[in-house]
Amino acid sequence: MNVGTVANVEDVLQKVAEHKGCGTSGGSGKASCGSAAGQGDLPTEIWEKVKNHPCYSEEAHHHYARMHVAVAPACNIQCNYCNRKYDCANESRPGVVSEKLTPEQAAKKVLAVASTIPQMTVLGIAGPGDPLANPEKTFKTFELIAKTAPDIKLCLSTNGLALPDHVDTIAGFNVDHVTITINMVDPEIGAKIYPWVFWKHKRYTGVEAAKLLTDRQLQGLEMLTERGILCKINSVMIPGINDKHLVEVNKAVKSRGAFLHNIMPLISAAEHGTVFGLNGQRGPTAQELKALQDSCEGEMNMMRHCRQCRADAVGLLGEDRSAEFTTDKIMAMEVNYDLDSRQAYQAKVEEERVAKVAAKQEELATLAGEMSDIKLLVAVATKGSGLINEHFGHAKEFQVWELSTAGAKFVGHRRVDLYCQGGYGEEDSLETIIRAINDCHAVFVAKIGGCPKSDLIKAGIEPVDQFAHEFIEKSAISWFKAYLDKVNSGEIEHVVRGDAEIRQGALTAAA
Ligand code: SF4
Repeated sequence: MNVGTVANVEDVLQKVAEHKGCGTSGGSGKASCGSAAGQGDLPTEIWEKVKNHPCYSEEAHHHYARMHVAVAPACNIQCNYCNRKYDCANESRPGVVSEKLTPEQAAKKVLAVASTIPQMTVLGIAGPGDPLANPEKTFKTFELIAKTAPDIKLCLSTNGLALPDHVDTIAGFNVDHVTITINMVDPEIGAKIYPWVFWKHKRYTGVEAAKLLTDRQLQGLEMLTERGILCKINSVMIPGINDKHLVEVNKAVKSRGAFLHNIMPLISAAEHGTVFGLNGQRGPTAQELKALQDSCEGEMNMMRHCRQCRADAVGLLGEDRSAEFTTDKIMAMEVNYDLDSRQAYQAKVEEERVAKVAAKQEELATLAGEMSDIKLLVAVATKGSGLINEHFGHAKEFQVWELSTAGAKFVGHRRVDLYCQGGYGEEDSLETIIRAINDCHAVFVAKIGGCPKSDLIKAGIEPVDQFAHEFIEKSAISWFKAYLDKVNSGEIEHVVRGDAEIRQGALTAAA
């Protein structure tokens, strides 16, 4: 096993620290990069690690896919937002799976997916329990995949309780991305989120359990970053419990070298059977979530494109192709793992990416000299590749972009009910879609029918279809420039939009 995976760890750490304005050399934090950081914004060593990773690079998530394999059923803690017994094939949220796999089945599945989806570059183990509460299964899976598909990046996502015991093994498998879910650094708050943890054959409860968990999480984080492994911190925003406290969490993880912070909304509904769902604990609104993410952005890179995926998700973020790769289907598949054709496909993706960045830069130049404080949000229907290429009626989610004279910045996505059901528009769905993008001034689509168009206009959201199949950022900047011109000439008046709802059911499957 190759334990010394990063030759110049000190150097990489220093570069991450300098880049973020944190860590070893001190500094005051930097807001400019975020998870949208591109090639020019990151040190080469870091860019090489994140450029094909859809979760660590917002830019990459438009082009590259990931998959999770559900080999880790057991968990060593209980979170009040989790119920792994609840399974619905149409639902996407962490902890949900349709089938559990053995390491051998998982390895076959990875090869089957990698042969069918050449832009699948990352394999993550994220449950449905905790990968490190199932270390034999997790590491056996990594071993099998490292042998047969060495170009695939290995990733894991853990609650951190067992992490310090496994850091050397993780480094030995060249896992250079680890996600730790950290919802608190104050055990009093932790006791409201975690009823118990199980450690060294003993169950701990209350503040004692939360203290043990936070100590182990932060220790594990330090051990990973010392080895040059990029760490992402997931935090679930639970209004009234840890929402304000997450600013402290952000500082604590930043000072220990975390690369990215992903603050996600609590998904909470009674039918999930979770403690929070049953006691009526609400999730945050879109504005509450964005305000918290914005306030932490000055401290470190923020992830805003997380889809809170199922533990057996497959495909681009936001799409789920897991139904194509059930155990029956993959066991019957002839798998031909062709590294050359995967690389040729990925070279094409890179060409597309370069063209997209060039188009954005060109359009951005037209905003130079514009003076305006206006900042607004727009929603975009897309199937990926950074293009406006989805019909309004077929969109299962919308990307949300913030536009200002500084350009277009990705700020999140909103899942919605499908409007078009079997060829007809569904009025109830339209209402929920409008509520989900109610904070947006416009919605960019490849195509839209007359009925939803007029309802959107009535709701104050402009449907924009003149940029069909063009690049998102370039089109959004061009639309924003025209919007500013109209405001400046007095043709329209700029109004501030209201709040929007985050969908709690989190359905992803097509009807
Ligand atoms: S849950 Fe978030 S971090 Fe994990 S694969 Fe999905 S998008 Fe990436």
